[in-house]
Formats: sequence, structure tokens, C-alpha cells
Amino acid sequence: MSIPNHDFLRYTLAYPDKVNATQFPLPDGIAYLEGVGILRLEPHHPVQHSVVLSAGIHGNETAPIELLNGLVRQLLTGELALSVRVLIILGHPQAMIAAERFCDVNLNRLFCGAWQRYDGLEVGRAQELEQAVAKFFGQHEQGEKLHYDLHTAIRGSQYEKFAVHPFSDGKAYQHSQFAFYDAIGLEAVLLSHQPTTTFSYHSYAKHGAQAATIELGQVKPFGENDLTKLDSLNEALKALLSDAALTQGQARNVHLFEVIDVLTKDAEDYRLNIASDEKNFTGYTQGFELATSSASRYLVKQEGDALVFPNTKLPIGQRSGLVVRARSWQTFKTI
Ligand SMILES: [Zn+2]
Repeated sequence: MSIPNHDFLRYTLAYPDKVNATQFPLPDGIAYLEGVGILRLEPHHPVQHSVVLSAGIHGNETAPIELLNGLVRQLLTGELALSVRVLIILGHPQAMIAAERFCDVNLNRLFCGAWQRYDGLEVGRAQELEQAVAKFFGQHEQGEKLHYDLHTAIRGSQYEKFAVHPFSDGKAYQHSQFAFYDAIGLEAVLLSHQPTTTFSYHSYAKHGAQAATIELGQVKPFGENDLTKLDSLNEALKALLSDAALTQGQARNVHLFEVIDVLTKDAEDYRLNIASDEKNFTGYTQGFELATSSASRYLVKQEGDALVFPNTKLPIGQRSGLVVRARSWQTFKTI
């Protein structure tokens, strides 16, 4: 078999519950359909790099799903040559069909084995994706391991496109990654300050991959995305797949932020004192009461500290936002 019309997204949404693992020839390699929304492409010739590209871990974040589907089509037809091993993941087909972020629980909180502490549809999926990535990186031979997990944000942002870099735990930051972020049109990078249970952190921490969560603008339904806004990302991913080259821009063009505090919804009456359409990276004055509940209050610690990913429509105990602070490149070291 092959994939009808080379349309991996359509095929995945037509069979969201189960597919039989199978393989079929590519113009210059072999494609392995390993599970629902999981496609591994291996060139015949020796390669540089093992690359995981994932989208739709949140089902309604459609723009990067459509972008990845376009790249897969070009790889399947041979229009785009393949010079790396690549694992394509359409993260959460059930949520895509429901046009929802998730069904039972946020899939992007379930990695690094965190699925063991949850119930719901996403638990099995997190386990399946962890296994697919472990198998893929387990067969890595040379070059870099890379994983870019593509998302779009719930709200607008002062910086429309940005990356969340995994907590490095003392490991060096790689200059080539930051120069790649500029090349793909990102305006900012958020440096995580502690381990998390996201998909990209899982690849970074468990498999030693260079990895990032990449936010690419605001959520829109399928078919309503202006993919020309993602042209530089599309071109850079094509170069990565076909030339094994990480397109390099100017790393220092990217604004750096570091996470200062994680806000947590700690009571039913918890609220953030911001406009409902407040943009990500909006900065506040020192002393401003950013969050209030019967259990706690959070005052802004330093002039300009900003809020990213605010969300209070979630269960008590979950993350309601990240407080971030601009970081100067002068004190930031990369290799
Ligand atoms: Zn997302």
C-alpha cells in the first residue's frame, strides 16, 4: 500500500482508532506506517541526523499539522529528497476530529512517564508516542538527534512566534539551535527553568536530542490558516529534510526570556487579573497583583516581568501561567 493521494492527514483522520503497521517504498527509501499518525521515513543511503517533527499534540492547533502534511506529501512523491531519517507524528487525531485541544487531559503534560498518574484517552497515546520516539532514536547512528514539536497558541502574543527551550540542567545551549530559531521566523525563546513533562522535554532529557516546543501564532480551524505566514519555517524544514542542513539566521535577533515562576491554580476562586484577550509576553509593573485566590496572591516581583500561557480554565493544581523575565544575550552562553 501507499497513502492515498499522499495525504497523510486525511488518511489519519479517516482511521483515527487503529491502523495496521505496514511499510511501502519511497522513491529513495522506505516508509514505515507505525501507528495512527506515526510515519517513519528511512532513506536507502547513509544519512546525517535523525529528526522528529510533530504537530497536533493539541488537536485544534491546525496550521503546523497542515504544514507537516504538505512536507510529507512532497517526501512521498519524491518532490523533496530525503537526506535524514525522519519520524513524522500527528499527535492527537481524536482531538483533531473533535476540533479540541484535548479530549480528557492535556496530552502535552503526560510525557516522561507522567501518563502513569492520569486517566483518559490521552494516556495510551502518550505511551505510544514515547515508544515510537524511543524506537526511532534507538536506531540513530550519526549526526544530530533533533525534535521540533510544533504548536499554535490559544491567545495572541507580543511575539507571535516563539520557542520554549527545554530546561538544560547545566548542559550547554547550542548556538546553531538559536540561529535556526531566527531562520524559521521566531522572535523569542523562552528558557525553561525546571524539568517538565512535555513531548519536546522528553526527547531532550531522555534521548539527548536538541528539542523545542515551537509556537507559531494563533489557533485557527483546518482550512483557515494562512500558511504563507510559515514560509520561512517551511523552507527551513525542507532544507533540513533534503539537505540535512540546519538553516542559520542571526541567533541574537531572537529575544531571550527565562521563566521566573510557575503559577498554579490553587483554589476554585483563583483568577488572573488580566484582560481575557491579554497577549502572551505582556509585561507588568512591579507589585501588580497578577493572581488572586482565597489561598494565595501573586505580586509581580520586578518591573517588566511578563506572563505567558495564562489559562484558568483547568483543574485545581494545574499550571495557570508562566512568569518570565527578559534575559540579556550578554550574559547568555552558547557553544
Ligand atoms: Zn499546543
